[in-house]
Amino acid sequence: MGFFDTIEEAGRGIGAAAKDAARTARLNMKLKDLDVKLHKEYELIGQKYYKAHCDEDTPDNRKVKEIYAEIAATKDQLADIRGESLCPSCGEFVDKNSRFCNHCGAPLAETVDEDDVTVEEPEDKTCEEPDRETDKEACEEEKPQD
Ligand SMILES: [Zn+2]
Repeated sequence: MGFFDTIEEAGRGIGAAAKDAARTARLNMKLKDLDVKLHKEYELIGQKYYKAHCDEDTPDNRKVKEIYAEIAATKDQLADIRGESLCPSCGEFVDKNSRFCNHCGAPLAETVDEDDVTVEEPEDKTCEEPDRETDKEACEEEKPQD
C-alpha cells in the first residue's frame, strides 16, 4: 500500500496503454484489409451482375456503358498516337499490319480497297469487359442466337 505499489500500478498502466495502442493499430489494419477484401467481392458481384443483365436498359447499365464507350474512345485516341489499331473483338491494341489479334486471335480487317470494307460495328461491345475474354463469352452466350 505504499509508494512502490503506486509506481508499480502506474508502470502497469503505461504498459497496458502501449499494448492497447498496438492492438488498436493491428485491429485497424485488419479492418482496412477486410474492407478492401469486401470491396473486391462487391466488385466481382457487380461485374457478374452486370454481365448477366447487360442487355437491360437500366440507369446503372447506361452508366457502365457510357464508361465503356469513353474507354473505347480514349483507346482509339491512344491507338492513333501509337500508330496502332484496336482489335474489334477484344479491344486490345494491335499492330496495324497484323492479320490476327495477338491477344485473342481474332482475324483483323486488312487494309483493303474501300469497296470491300464492311465496317462491323461490334454491337455488344459495351456489354463486355474488353480485357476479359471469358467474361465476354459468358455474356454473349446468354444472348439469343438468330
Ligand atoms: Zn483481340
